[in-house]
Amino acid sequence: MGVTQTIWADPVDYLRAMAPRDPVMFLSPAALQAQAQRFLTGFPGLVTYAVKANPDEAVIVNLAAAGLAGFDVASPEEIRLIRRLVPGAALHYNNPVRARHEIAVGVAEDVRSWSVDSLSELDKLFAQVPRVNGRGERVEITARFKLPVAGAVYDFGAKFGATEELATEILRRIAAAGYVPSLTFHPGTQCTDPAAWEAYIHAARRIADGAGVTIARLNVGGGFPSHRLRAEMPSLAAIFRLIGRVTAEAFAEAAPELVCEPGRALVADAMALLAQVKGLRDGAHVFLNDGIYGAMAELPLMGALDRIRAWAPDGTPRIGEPVRRIVFGPTCDSVDRLPGEVALPADLAEGDYLLVQGMGAYSVPTNTRFNGFGALTLEMALTLEP
Ligand SMILES: *Cc1c(COP(=O)(O)O)cnc(C)c1O
Repeated sequence: MGVTQTIWADPVDYLRAMAPRDPVMFLSPAALQAQAQRFLTGFPGLVTYAVKANPDEAVIVNLAAAGLAGFDVASPEEIRLIRRLVPGAALHYNNPVRARHEIAVGVAEDVRSWSVDSLSELDKLFAQVPRVNGRGERVEITARFKLPVAGAVYDFGAKFGATEELATEILRRIAAAGYVPSLTFHPGTQCTDPAAWEAYIHAARRIADGAGVTIARLNVGGGFPSHRLRAEMPSLAAIFRLIGRVTAEAFAEAAPELVCEPGRALVADAMALLAQVKGLRDGAHVFLNDGIYGAMAELPLMGALDRIRAWAPDGTPRIGEPVRRIVFGPTCDSVDRLPGEVALPADLAEGDYLLVQGMGAYSVPTNTRFNGFGALTLEMALTLEP
């Protein structure tokens, strides 16, 4: 994505001036830094950012400017990106299965923490990773465990995470080998129910006891919810309180330091997507210039968002009664359709613009050029709330 230096007052100011024909993603650095502050001041431990949610350089640089000093990375490319943009940051390489050449990059770039969910991958780490990294820091290995799902939109345990029993064995071996022994889990994504964390924290205590190990840190993953539906405002503060309280209860005097690695909840609300109505087919179906092969790739998995407003090309807001309509993306693939029906103003017309709020996560990196569409650009806006 090309980045320009202009900072627009808001997306409507932009659409009036530029009449964009391709989709545009707006980043509000102020909104991003404010959200980073909410995590940094509210979470009772170290806040790291899961880079995969949005690796845009402007995102990384603004998070670092807000004070974020740790990053959850999953590939050599993400490792090099963070080293280049935030040289002093702590790197947590939390992709539990890595090729040996990928491990070598992590070692060369002084990764501080590695997660693992199998004995075979643990042996690969033992063979290649020194106990102290090139910066003189003791290296941590975290055993990643899973529980049967609760509360998340989809099941992250389907791919990664050892059972409690296996995690106990992995943790025992990590401690015996002289690495900093820790535990981690990832409760899923968009977990609106704080209880999702509770069972995991209690399980962490059982695993530590079973291994006879005092864990140094407990990484409670990402999964924090973003604001997707107008009527449902998730409470990060309630989740932070619960994590702090349950950790204190479960571990008492042996409480580990806490770490979290949010992706979605840090970036989602800092971006809004501007898309144009290409056609209103016989007044019924709305065709946009962006869809599920573009920046809206995860909507079929995650469900729709309804924080959408519309403007005429001259910037006049469309304020007609909401009417539910089927909305398609621009490609010729019939799955290129937003889930369900989307409530849009009755006076919506061809050429109008829609602004979809809360689009900062899992949108920019999964945008494709399928069928010749997807020429997404990034613009900066002071505010996303015109
Ligand atoms: C994707 C991922 C995250 C971020 O998840 P969000 O739901 O975006 O907060 C955190 N940790 C790990 C290990 C992940 O794979």
